[in-house]
Amino acid sequence: MSKESKSSSALVMKFGGTSVGSPKAIEHIIEIARKCRQEWSRIVIVTSAMAGVTNLLVESAERAIVGDEVFISKAEIELQNKHYSIVEKLVPSSAERAQLKQEIKHLSMEFANLCRAISILGEATPRALDAVVSLGERLSVRLLAGILKSAGFPAQFVETTNIVVTDDCFQAAHPNLEETAKNVQNILIPMLMLKQIPVLTGFIGATKEGITTTLGRGGGDYSAAIIGAALPADEVWIWTDVSGVMTADPRIVEDARTIPELNYREMAELSYFGAKVLHPKAVRPVVEVGIPVRICNTFKPEDEGTRVTKNNEAAPKIKNGARGIVKAVTAIQDQRLITVEGRGMLGVPGVAARTFGAVAATGTSVPLITQASSEQSISFSVPNESAEAVLDSLHIAFATELARRDIDRVWATDEVAIITAVGNGLQHTPGVAGQIFSALGSADVNILAIAQGSSKVAISLIVTAKDTEKAIHTLHQFITG
Ligand code: ASP
Ligand code: MG
Repeated sequence: MSKESKSSSALVMKFGGTSVGSPKAIEHIIEIARKCRQEWSRIVIVTSAMAGVTNLLVESAERAIVGDEVFISKAEIELQNKHYSIVEKLVPSSAERAQLKQEIKHLSMEFANLCRAISILGEATPRALDAVVSLGERLSVRLLAGILKSAGFPAQFVETTNIVVTDDCFQAAHPNLEETAKNVQNILIPMLMLKQIPVLTGFIGATKEGITTTLGRGGGDYSAAIIGAALPADEVWIWTDVSGVMTADPRIVEDARTIPELNYREMAELSYFGAKVLHPKAVRPVVEVGIPVRICNTFKPEDEGTRVTKNNEAAPKIKNGARGIVKAVTAIQDQRLITVEGRGMLGVPGVAARTFGAVAATGTSVPLITQASSEQSISFSVPNESAEAVLDSLHIAFATELARRDIDRVWATDEVAIITAVGNGLQHTPGVAGQIFSALGSADVNILAIAQGSSKVAISLIVTAKDTEKAIHTLHQFITG
C-alpha cells in the first residue's frame, strides 16, 4: 500500500522477542524503520523483551522464593551479557556504547536487588513479580532506542508506566483506555510533532498510583493495540518471526500458506484454537476503532503477511461451497473427550451447571462442549493431563445420581484432537458443513463430537488422536489460494 499521500499517517509497529533477540534481527529492524520513515510520517515502536528474557526473569523470581542465590547471580550476569553483546555489535560509538551499558548494568542490579528481597521474604507477591518481569522490556526498550539512535534515527525510549494506566490486577492488569488515551495525547503526540520515534515498552503499564503492572504473558501485542487505538494509528503492524497466520500448521501440512486477509472474528477463533501468532486480546482495542492489524515477518520484511481487518461482510456466495470459504484449519491436540450420560438427566435443571462446577473446581479450562437436545449426555474436552482429576471430581459431584442410576456413566475417551475449520463464510453458506463431513467420511475419519463456535465463523470436530493429521489434510484441501 502506498503511503505517499498520507501526510499525517501514523503507524504503530510492535517487535516481538525474536525480532529483538539477535544482532541480525535488530539489523532487520533498522532496515524496516528506514523504509517506514519514507512512507509514514509518524511512527511509534513498541517492543517485547529479548527472546528468552521474560522466561529467565520469571524463573529467577521463582528461584528467589526458595532462596537460590546462585541462580540469581548467574541470571544477573546472563541478563547483562545478553544485552551487552548486542550493544557491542551494533553501537559503533564508544561513548554511546558506554552510556547504554551503564543503563543495562543499572537495571541488572535492580533485578538482583529485587530478587534478593524476594529471597529474604521467601515469597513473591504478584506485585513483586511484575516489578521483576517488567525489567525485560525496560531493558530492551533502551537497547532498541539506543541502537536506532546510533543508526541515525530520532528514537527515544519511553516506559509505558507513564502511559498505559491499568487496574491493580498484577500479572494480568486491565488497561483504562480513557486514561491511557490522555497520556498518549500528552506524551506521545508532542514527541511525534517533534518528529521523534518513540520506542515503548510493550507488556507493562502502571496503576494510577504509579505501581508497575503487566498485561499478562504475550501482552506486548495488546500494548501495541492499546497505543494504536489511543493515538489513533492508521495501522498496527505486529512484527514476529513468521509471515503472518498460516492456513494450517506447516509442520503438518506441507503446502500450508499465509492467509492474506482475515477479519477480526476469524482471527479471534484462530487465536483461541491454538494459532498463537496474535494474542486474542490484542484484537479487541483496535477492532472497536476499525484499525487494521498486519502481522509480518521481521526476517522476511518483503512478505505481505496477514492483514486483520474489520471487514465483516458476508463472503460472496461461492458455488463450490466449502472451497474458498474455509480459510484455516487448526488442531488442538492432547485432549480427551469426557461424557456425563444417563437417561435420568432429561429435563433435570442444574446438571450442566454442576458438571462444569466440578470441572472448574479442578482448575481446568474447557475448549469444547456439546449436548444434543435429547439431554441424555453432555460431552466436553479437557487437556489430557487434567482428565483424571476431572473424572474424579465428577464422580464425587454426582455420587448420589450415579448410585441411583440417574446418571449411568461418567467416562473419558482415549486421546483426541479438536479440529477447527475457520472462515467467515461458514455462517452464511449452506452446505459447507455437509461437505466437510462428507469429505471426512470419505477419508474414513470418524467424528466423535461437533460444535459450532457461537461466533459462527468456526466449526470444531473431535477426532481420535490417530486421525488428526488425516483430518487436517482433508479439510485443508478446501482452502484455495
Ligand atoms: N515479554 C512478554 C512475554 O514474553 C510480553 C511479550 O513478549 O509479548 O510474555
Ligand atoms: Mg508474542
